[in-house]
Amino acid sequence: MISGSKKQNIKYYFLAILTAVAILVWSAVWAEDRGGILTVAFLNVGQGDAIFIDAPNGNQVLMDGGPNKTVLKELSAVMSFYDRSLDMLIMSHPNLDHIGGLVEALKRYEVGTAVDSGASHSIGEYAEWKRLIANNGVKYLQGSSGVRIHLADGVYLDVLSPKKGEPLQSKNINDVMLTARLVYGNTSFLLTGDMERTLEYKLVDGGSALDATVLKVGHHGSRTSSSEYFLNAVHPKYAVIQVGKNNKYGHPHQEILNRLQAAGIGILRTDTDGRIIFRSDGKNLALEK
Ligand SMILES: [Zn+2]
Repeated sequence: MISGSKKQNIKYYFLAILTAVAILVWSAVWAEDRGGILTVAFLNVGQGDAIFIDAPNGNQVLMDGGPNKTVLKELSAVMSFYDRSLDMLIMSHPNLDHIGGLVEALKRYEVGTAVDSGASHSIGEYAEWKRLIANNGVKYLQGSSGVRIHLADGVYLDVLSPKKGEPLQSKNINDVMLTARLVYGNTSFLLTGDMERTLEYKLVDGGSALDATVLKVGHHGSRTSSSEYFLNAVHPKYAVIQVGKNNKYGHPHQEILNRLQAAGIGILRTDTDGRIIFRSDGKNLALEK
């Protein structure tokens, strides 16, 4: 009797495992096809940037990670529970409010490729970023203007800055920021990190394609960014500000909010709106409520 009931238990145990495996396989197959939809999620990580990109073929990118582990909770809300990998991490620049969460993502996820501008920093998180890339066998790509990253059919990310070959260490870190423009058909996203006026002017004057449906507002809405000259070139429908509640910098600055509003741009903020998710089919852009 005892051995009989043990056998029953073992049988159920295996059945349960097989069923679970079948569900995982089928949801993985299903998950690879996003029905032609690109998702871009501006994660709510407090004072810092973290942008999750999910391409129509299932390729996943995280650009910046906010200051700490908060990004892991945010990622688990926008990724499948069994998904333990990210195809690419991109770092705009090595300040804590951008790199902190990227280091956490490197510890938690299997990462394919890591991209940064090549600008280094003395903070420990930068050393850890380099160490984890080397130790975990992550491919490394130095991003500069002219680099195009193909994410899926018709979906690509153009690196706009820094300029290829430009000296990185002698300059203000915000002037050699890795910025990028994500394009899918008629819809586009300009991802600016903490870019300030100097780089904004340089990009406009250099003739970079800057027009975008969604602008990730530079430097958390600081008055040192979002010049009128730049906003006119980008001409966005939406402006997303990634910012922490009651942050010590007073971001976003009121004059920038006024400027965006006067230009008729819809303002979205992670401190008041929480996580902000856009979906694009290449023609139309929808803001998820
Ligand atoms: Zn920042």
